[in-house]
Amino acid sequence: MKSKKPGKPNIILIVIDALRARNLGCYGGDPGASPNIDKIAGKSVLFKNVYSCWNTTDQSLTSILSGRYPRTHGIIHHGDKIKPEDINTYKNLDIKLLSQILQQNGYKTFAIDWMDRWFNKGFDYYGYKPGGNFFRKFFYCFITLPYVHLKYIVANFSLLKIYSKKRKSSVRSKWKGLRDVLRTFRFTFELARIQDAGYVTGLAEDMIHKAINENFFLFLHYWDTHTPYNCPRKYYKKKKQRVSQKDILESKYCGAVSYIDQQMGRLFDILKKEELLDDTLVIITSDHGESLSEHDIFFDHHGLYEVTTHVPLLLFCSKTFSQAKEVPGLVQHIDLAPTICEMLNIDYKNFAFDGLSLFPLVRGEKDEIRDFVFNEESYVQRKVGLRTKNFKYIYAPDGVGMCNYCQKVHAGVEELYELEKDPGEKNNIADENKEKAAEMRQRLDGFIKKLDKKRNSMLKQGHSRGDISEDNINFKEDKKIRKKLRSLGYMD
Ligand SMILES: [Zn+2]
Ligand SMILES: [Zn+2]
Repeated sequence: MKSKKPGKPNIILIVIDALRARNLGCYGGDPGASPNIDKIAGKSVLFKNVYSCWNTTDQSLTSILSGRYPRTHGIIHHGDKIKPEDINTYKNLDIKLLSQILQQNGYKTFAIDWMDRWFNKGFDYYGYKPGGNFFRKFFYCFITLPYVHLKYIVANFSLLKIYSKKRKSSVRSKWKGLRDVLRTFRFTFELARIQDAGYVTGLAEDMIHKAINENFFLFLHYWDTHTPYNCPRKYYKKKKQRVSQKDILESKYCGAVSYIDQQMGRLFDILKKEELLDDTLVIITSDHGESLSEHDIFFDHHGLYEVTTHVPLLLFCSKTFSQAKEVPGLVQHIDLAPTICEMLNIDYKNFAFDGLSLFPLVRGEKDEIRDFVFNEESYVQRKVGLRTKNFKYIYAPDGVGMCNYCQKVHAGVEELYELEKDPGEKNNIADENKEKAAEMRQRLDGFIKKLDKKRNSMLKQGHSRGDISEDNINFKEDKKIRKKLRSLGYMD
């Protein structure tokens, strides 16, 4: 039965994990690297300067869906370091996610992803298992899945070597390194099935067929560009001569970009075939970037440098954004939720988004909606950062410390880069330009205070409503999440 409301576009939110903006042709990368995405960009609004709010997946996805910085949505740790306080703060803040808002506005909501954590609220379906009859499921569990896992282990065994080599040689570090390697390996093992863009697009096609007569919101999380950069062999150019492990991994990352690009082409062909292209908003972004060796960070997404924080953002919707455009103003992930609400005429004042609608930029009414972007990290080191048009300031609030991933100190307490002169952020001018560093620090501290004040005041309002006493916090979901994290090797 057809229940689609006219005038409301379908929405497909595509998050390509750890995809660096600079690896796409339309963001100044190799023109041959992403022909399909470049073609889509040619018909979209392309935001040139988009920044993630945190450099790890848990916080970033929650920001994309909630329109809030991690300090005001509550999740300020990642993976095995998530604390019950994070989850409780998140719950007590009574956040409305984009999925919930759309569901309440008549959308069918689907997510293709394995994480299924606290941000699964408002989804009619969240998962990545194939549908079908008993035989199809039996074949998947006992034939396909073991084969995929075996192939994955063989293909990625070399990672063990490269991760181990990057660590110091003391016995303690070696043991810690090995433990981290095994943990990483176990985590990526869990990814084995979903880290195949072709498989994700196949599931997306099934969901689109299911929801074709409804207004739907489909969240697709592609993982191929996350370590260990799995992609079919034909997508990465394996050189005949002996090359280093680093070269192999870099070439696998580029291969994963090409493979996802090919799948973006396939997804758009599906939308065209189903006559949905004119009536769908497709958002393409990534949750954070990746450091492939820059700043001495190998194959991970820590550090607040451009490689890790600058992400792509394309909005394709032939009805709303009929003219392709490049927007240079500074933008953050938190701006997506208010933009979608404005597009659908949903009053979003009560959702307390930190983000701002992007429409003034798209319509050309404003050149900028903010003077700076703000981001943080906490997983292997604690840093906070502020980036204006020309300057990047990074501060280590706990002082100089060892990076728990690389087992080395990456930089001093303060870092200041002049981006127009030094786009690679190689020359730290914090000592020679103390005045600018102090100004940036002041702005950073002021902004952090503002966010903390907002969160505390919202929590206080919750208390005054009498709905956040110790007694009525539902710990059931926390236990479920913790159990799941533990099963993935995320929890000690
Ligand atoms: Zn991620
Ligand atoms: Zn490091």
